[in-house]
Amino acid sequence: MRLIIMGPPGAGKGTQAKILTERYSIPQLSTGDILRSAIMDKTPMGLQAKEIMARGELVPDEVVCGIVSERLDGDDARDGFILDGFPRTIAQAQALDEMLEEKGISLDAVVVLQVDGEELIERIRTRAAESGGARADDNEEVLRKRLQVYGELTRPLIAYYEKQGNVKNVDGMASIEEVSAQIAGLLEK
Ligand code: AMP
Repeated sequence: MRLIIMGPPGAGKGTQAKILTERYSIPQLSTGDILRSAIMDKTPMGLQAKEIMARGELVPDEVVCGIVSERLDGDDARDGFILDGFPRTIAQAQALDEMLEEKGISLDAVVVLQVDGEELIERIRTRAAESGGARADDNEEVLRKRLQVYGELTRPLIAYYEKQGNVKNVDGMASIEEVSAQIAGLLEK
């Protein structure tokens, strides 16, 4: 199963991606997680990304495309993967199409979690409180910036993938279990 999971920040992509990794025994390729670990390790990529992420802006396309290209070549991704947090721009989606074409593979589905903006702000508040502020980008001001970036640069990807005919819309406001059951139902159709 080769999937993209999309949705605004705080929509539950990471949570649902983790459930899918177990259900289908495929890896979760999260560009956000990879960037956060590069920041922890103080690698040159991490140093470049740190301030950008703290502001809620996007890391350059070349950087994230490089990460994904390398991860897609990994042995664990041979039989499938879930892309979580990538692509986030049309240029990234086009680069991904090229990578997949080169490998002679295609996506099975693009799962879109639909949630309401105010609910997201509430969720992020809870996440920031629970994590004790572990994520520098989990505060309201940065969330508003990330939502704006999502609306301007990432949401247009839904139409891009609708043209390819593989979008599965899911009501992301439901409980974790309900959302995961909806996704399973749509993928097994
Ligand atoms: P996430 O964990 O997916 O919410 O990503 C956290 C942050 O990492 C984002 O707000 C961006 O600054 C950066 N990031 C993650 N994935 C990408 C991507 N595909 N393109 C650009 N920036 C990204």
